[in-house]
Amino acid sequence: MDIKGKKVVVCGAGGFIGGHLVKSLKATGAKEIRAVDIKPLDDWYQTSQEVENLSLDLKDKQNCYLAADGMDAVFQLAADMGGMGFIENNRALCMLSVLTNTHMLMAARDHGVGRFFYSSSACVYNADKQKDANVVALKEEDAYPALPEDGYGWEKLFSERMCRHFEEDFDLQCRVARFHNVYGPLGTWTGGREKAPAAICRKVIEAKMSGKDEIEIWGDGNQTRSFMYIDDCTKGVEAIFSSEIHEPINLGSSELVTINRLVDIAEEYAGIRLKRNYNLNAPKGVNGRNSDNTKILGYLGWEPSIRLKDGIAKTFDWIESEMNVPVSK
Ligand code: NAD
Repeated sequence: MDIKGKKVVVCGAGGFIGGHLVKSLKATGAKEIRAVDIKPLDDWYQTSQEVENLSLDLKDKQNCYLAADGMDAVFQLAADMGGMGFIENNRALCMLSVLTNTHMLMAARDHGVGRFFYSSSACVYNADKQKDANVVALKEEDAYPALPEDGYGWEKLFSERMCRHFEEDFDLQCRVARFHNVYGPLGTWTGGREKAPAAICRKVIEAKMSGKDEIEIWGDGNQTRSFMYIDDCTKGVEAIFSSEIHEPINLGSSELVTINRLVDIAEEYAGIRLKRNYNLNAPKGVNGRNSDNTKILGYLGWEPSIRLKDGIAKTFDWIESEMNVPVSK
C-alpha cells in the first residue's frame, strides 16, 4: 500500500518514534493523519501542524474504534515501555499493552482498515541466544523456541502472533517490524524510562557540567548492542509498511558496539574522559545482541546505515540543549 493520499492513524504519537513517524508520514504525502496518545497533549514530545491530535487511552476498546474509524492504515506503536531499568521492574505494566494491541487489531478489522503496522522488538528473541557478548547476530527465526525477555518481550511476541493470525483468519494485512534500540533527539532522556544512548549522553553532559569527572555504567560495560538512529527507523517503518513482507522482520543497525565503546563515542564528542564506575547490580539486559539484516537486505535492498558516531552527535546536542533550559521553563 502506498502511503501517498492515504488516511492514517499513528498510535503512540506523543512518544519518541510515533512523533517522528507522524512528521515523516506527512512528508511522504499521507492525506490525513490522526495522532493518538494516552498522554495529555502538553506532554507529547512533539506535535505536528494539520494533524488531528487526540488524547485517548488505547487500552480501552471504544477508544480504539474511535482511533481507527475511517482510516486506511494503522501504525500501532503505543506501548507502556522504557529502557532496561523500566521493563525489568514493570513486567505487568508492559504486559498490559496486550489490551491496546488486541483492541486496535479488532478495531482495524471491524472498520475495514487496509493495513496494520505493528512495532515489535528485539526483546522477542530467545534469551539463550544472547548470553555471549561475542554475538552471532539474531536472525528472525531465532525468536523460536520462545524464551523472550520476561514481561515486555512475551507481550511483543504474543502480539506479533495476533497480527499473523488476524491476517490469516480475517484477511487484515499486517506488517511487523522488530525494532532494535532506537535513539535520537526528542526521545526520553531522563526519568527512568530512558535507554542507554540517551542515558549515557545525559551522564556525560552532567559530568561535564558539574566538573565531577565520573560516570556510572550499568553492568561491566562489555555487553554488546546495536543502535539505530531515528531517521533510519522511520524510513524502515514506511518501507516495511509499503512492502509485501508478511513475516516479522528485523529493523535495526548491524553496527555492533560494547557499552564501553558507546561511552567512548559520547566522551570523544564531549571532549572529555571520565572515570568509569561499573554498577554490577543495575539492570543490564542480555549480554549481547545484534541485528542480522540478511532478510531486510533481501527484501528491500536497504538496511539502516546511519553511523552511531553521527547519530550520537545529534542526540548529544539535543539533550544538552534540553538540560540547559532553566528548570522554571
Ligand atoms: P515511547 O514510550 O516514547 O512511546 C510510546 C507511546 O505510547 C508513549 O507516548 C505512551 O504515552 C503511549 N502509550 C502508552 N500506553 C498507551 C495507551 N494505553 N494509549 C495510548 N497511548 C499509549 O516509546 P518509543 O521508543 O517511541 O516506542 C514506540 C514503539 O516502538 C513501542 O511499541 C515500543 O515497544 C517499540 N520499540 C521501541 C524501541 C526503542 O528502542 N525505542 C525498541 C523496540 C521496540
